[in-house]
Amino acid sequence: MEIASVIVDVPTKQTDRAFDYLIPDQWRETIQPGMRVIVPFGPRNIQGFVVELKKESELKQLREIIEPMDLEPVLNKELLALGNWLMETTLCFKIFAYQVMLPAALKAKYEKMVKLAPGVGLDSLPSPLRAFFSKDGKLDWVDALKNGIVSLLQKETAKGHLEVNYIVKEKVKKKQRKYIRPHVPLAALKEEMERLPANAEKQKQVLNYFVEHFTAVELRLLVAEVNATASTVKALVGKKLLAEEEMEVYRDPYEHRTFERTKPLPLTKDQQIAIVPILNALEQNLHEVFLLYGVTGSGKTEIYLQSIQEVIEKGQEAIVLVPEISLTPQMVNRFKGRFGDLVAVLHSGLSAGEKYDEWRKIQRKEVKVVVGARSAIFAPFENLGIIIIDEEHETSYKQEEMPRYHARDVAIERAKTYSCPVILGSATPSLESFARAQKKVYHLLSLPSRMNNQPLPAVEIIDMREELREGNRSMFSRKLFEMLKDRLEKQQQSVLFLNKRGHSSFVMCRDCGYVMNCPNCDISLTYHRVNEQMKCHYCGYESFVPKVCPECSSEYIRYFGTGTQKVEDELGKILPEARIIRMDVDTTGRKGSHERLLRDFQDGKADILLGTQMIAKGLDFPNITLVGVLSADTMLHLPDFRASEKTFQLLTQVSGRAGRHQLPGEVIIQTYTPEHYSVELAGTQDYDLFYQQEMMIRKTHHYPPFYYLSLITVSHDQLLAVVTATEKIVNYVRLRLSDAAVILGPAASPIPRINNRYRYQCLIKYKREPNLTKTLKTILDQYQKDTKSGLQVSIDVNPFILM
Ligand code: ADP
Ligand code: ZN
Ligand code: ZN
Repeated sequence: MEIASVIVDVPTKQTDRAFDYLIPDQWRETIQPGMRVIVPFGPRNIQGFVVELKKESELKQLREIIEPMDLEPVLNKELLALGNWLMETTLCFKIFAYQVMLPAALKAKYEKMVKLAPGVGLDSLPSPLRAFFSKDGKLDWVDALKNGIVSLLQKETAKGHLEVNYIVKEKVKKKQRKYIRPHVPLAALKEEMERLPANAEKQKQVLNYFVEHFTAVELRLLVAEVNATASTVKALVGKKLLAEEEMEVYRDPYEHRTFERTKPLPLTKDQQIAIVPILNALEQNLHEVFLLYGVTGSGKTEIYLQSIQEVIEKGQEAIVLVPEISLTPQMVNRFKGRFGDLVAVLHSGLSAGEKYDEWRKIQRKEVKVVVGARSAIFAPFENLGIIIIDEEHETSYKQEEMPRYHARDVAIERAKTYSCPVILGSATPSLESFARAQKKVYHLLSLPSRMNNQPLPAVEIIDMREELREGNRSMFSRKLFEMLKDRLEKQQQSVLFLNKRGHSSFVMCRDCGYVMNCPNCDISLTYHRVNEQMKCHYCGYESFVPKVCPECSSEYIRYFGTGTQKVEDELGKILPEARIIRMDVDTTGRKGSHERLLRDFQDGKADILLGTQMIAKGLDFPNITLVGVLSADTMLHLPDFRASEKTFQLLTQVSGRAGRHQLPGEVIIQTYTPEHYSVELAGTQDYDLFYQQEMMIRKTHHYPPFYYLSLITVSHDQLLAVVTATEKIVNYVRLRLSDAAVILGPAASPIPRINNRYRYQCLIKYKREPNLTKTLKTILDQYQKDTKSGLQVSIDVNPFILM
């Protein structure tokens, strides 16, 4: 084949298609679909993905591929097809659909170089410029910017003396280690050893090592083993008796840990009933989606493990997704413990290099199981036997930037291709999934009770308004305080949970109510204690905390809201003897700190673990007998139709942290809205009732799972332009869709301005609209092509964030 269709790395509407390139003779054997190549594009050289090889092109004048970037495809056939599916379903640019499947390390970094044009000598440049160029006539763009000579360069470029080149560099190098191996046959080695002069004692020892172990060994180990120096070894390499080579090593993030191997546990009656349909599907190679619904501690993970065991025995592979925050060492240990080195782990705590290494283990079929966060769904396996999504209700499975995919949808799409089962597991399934299970689209499997029938912890809901009325102004109710003290005396552990989302610490004037807002975005600034600064989480704007109110000059301006730090300070005052571990973004930023803090807590180095969302999941320590939620309702007031669902899920999850072992657990939930059904029902841990109530509300308001949603967001720095464009879009959508579709808008977005751009939206609710995808594509075509207008239009199909 002579011609390659290439998707180029230029994410714009105009370039969102395959371009044909001629494959030069020397690369004809090499280049295959799924490989990355460097191609000329306009005046520059860029990266692209080969998606197809063909004999002919409609175009006559084709440019040539410059060089391949890979020696083997990085995307297999199935993933190439999956990319197409992603483009169709999420309406993303093609290049994003492929890039999302690869580890960040494979995303090339472009370095810009200014170079002498062909045939031009350095002396053609004016003397002040010459000094900046290297002998071979090159200048790094970064240096050009630094030295402020861009306009000079521009003039020379106009004269044809200079040109700009893009150099594509891999961000990550493979980690290499030096290995030494024998270079001659064993007999020759022996002979040479004996022939060495007596004073070459060290060289003899080295050769003797290879006579005894006739194999490659890492230089570092060899030197230590025979107590020789590297130069002794080098001398023998020089004599061509030994050879040196660089071999690739994997950066194993779990390198220095040993995992105690576990064996499958005999399943309980409930587990047996639940696993049979899964094993059946595996045996018959059936694609089926199972919803494994069971409270925390009901034994879901053991079912995952035993299903995977079956898959491995069939010679197939498994993907396990867990939410990023529950990808804790505890969780990883359970998989590594069962399957050892057959497990690769992908999570954001790894460096780009480590991620790349894990990815290559998968690519090379050295592992059979991947445990990872959202993007692990693209693991390049080619013989998938099962996909498991734990905590399937977690919103982090939806990616909020292009491609705006949901890992659950991708899982089902891949499982269809491989004709294999999917297990969705949760104690509080998303309404969408539970409704599908009710309609028998998914196969419902239930684990109704905890292991050994431990009771769920007793939950008490405390009305904080009542506390205030009775004169308690602290963030701790009297009951919670009593219980904390009680646990301290009993030497049992407590967990305090602060729901941070939607609860940012903002600065407000107590006299006039002035709130410090971002000048670019219509949103309050968040107070950061570390550097005493106010920060905008949307545009990055920073400012100092004012001493007096800019409006009324009052000195009573201070920050509100309860950060974990503030809770810690308060705790220190009322329970000075308590040892506290605080876990939040500030204390867990460094690599490995998350793990260390948890281990300290497990080892009993603290009495109270205080933290945000990140402590809600996966925590399973026997000595925790009290869980306190400081305020349950902060999330209820977000402009989000899933607010109640999320609140219920989170409260249920946190409650599940207490009393998982012998000691019974208690839970205290503090709230300002105890009468809200999601708080009330989390108190009784009644998912079924919550499901019924919430479904009624969703039905009334035309929300999922009764309707699908698509959200169009338009932004521009001129308000009028946004309104006009959104209005046009809304009218167009109305024209194209059926009367059954509900079209809301144009309306200002819940955050009406970000980074000085006004934002308007159109929300479409629908059941079945065959015309929808085409309509949305047309809108994108129209507006993404027209970049001069400054309008930005983005579309989120099945959005999770409506802001
Ligand atoms: P879930 O994933 O639903 O939260 P787990 O699988 O973690 O539940 O099980 C909870 C606890 O019960 C774990 O400590 C696990 O080792 C144990 N367990 C699970 N299945 C069995 C079994 N069949 N026999 C004995 N212990 C079990
Ligand atoms: Zn004021
Ligand atoms: Zn801002």
